[in-house]
Amino acid sequence: ALPEAESIWMDGAVVPWHEARVHVLTHALHYGTGVLEGTRAYATDAGPAVFRLDDHLARLARSAHIIGLPLPHSVEQLRAATLDLVAANGHSSCYIRHLVFLGYGSMGINPGTTPVQVSIATWEWGAYLGDASQGARLMTSSWRRNDPNVVPTAAKATGPYLNSVLAKAEALRAGYDEAVLLSATGYLSECTGENIFLVRDGQLFTPPSSAGALEGITQDTVRRLADDLGLPVHTTNLLRSDLYTADEVFMSGTAAEIVPVRSVDDREIGGPGPITEKIRDAFTAAVHGRDDRYRDWLTPVHR
Ligand code: PMP
Repeated sequence: ALPEAESIWMDGAVVPWHEARVHVLTHALHYGTGVLEGTRAYATDAGPAVFRLDDHLARLARSAHIIGLPLPHSVEQLRAATLDLVAANGHSSCYIRHLVFLGYGSMGINPGTTPVQVSIATWEWGAYLGDASQGARLMTSSWRRNDPNVVPTAAKATGPYLNSVLAKAEALRAGYDEAVLLSATGYLSECTGENIFLVRDGQLFTPPSSAGALEGITQDTVRRLADDLGLPVHTTNLLRSDLYTADEVFMSGTAAEIVPVRSVDDREIGGPGPITEKIRDAFTAAVHGRDDRYRDWLTPVHR
């Protein structure tokens, strides 16, 4: 069951959790015409703070632009509404889900003048991939990742998540923790809700967005943390077998955070490696405001 909070922001109003409803003929429910964001707020010494809020809102606006949804509120309004909601719901830390979607008004594929709706929900969410301290077990999915010329994978859009849902269910059914997907042309892309990194000879490698991977904000965070640790990062096409022979593999994502990978397709990689642990420690310090170099990434929530 979802860990409920008190209120949800919906179309400009703050409503009780169970009253944030839509009509069954909501366009997005039928055709996946929405875009979303997942953001986290963390406890810091100065109270809760949202991690990279402006970057998440900028991606939300970009996603809406890509799929042609006009945002009915300014990013500034959404920013204020987000901070007010986290404060009002009394979280010391939480996950934040922004959703922009086509509402009620048309059942044709062409949405016409169907109104665009916006919601912001928050809830307290622990480790998304469970206790992965010993590392997650991955399988290569039989599903290929969405191709950027089939749906725009640069948009974090709702409909295309069916691809992730199928891959995740397949992996869990087969006894793995998570799936890694290949692009239509057979290069490594990403996991169902995380980007993927591999480490070889002290250097980091991660697939490019041209392989259908989302430009993850945590992926970008890892790039900066690695840079500050003196570790080179390459964004480049990679093969499935590169995972098998890597020194270390880890995933990055807002919900999952930094999660080590123990094996891929039953090829053992080993427990959390030293570079993964360095990155994870640096990440933990950054999100909790314990490293001044990354203060700009935190927006305090004033209660
Ligand atoms: N890929 C997919 C498919 C995702 O759903 C996510 C989570 N938003 C990510 C990558 C990681 O992105 P981020 O670090 O911005 O959360």
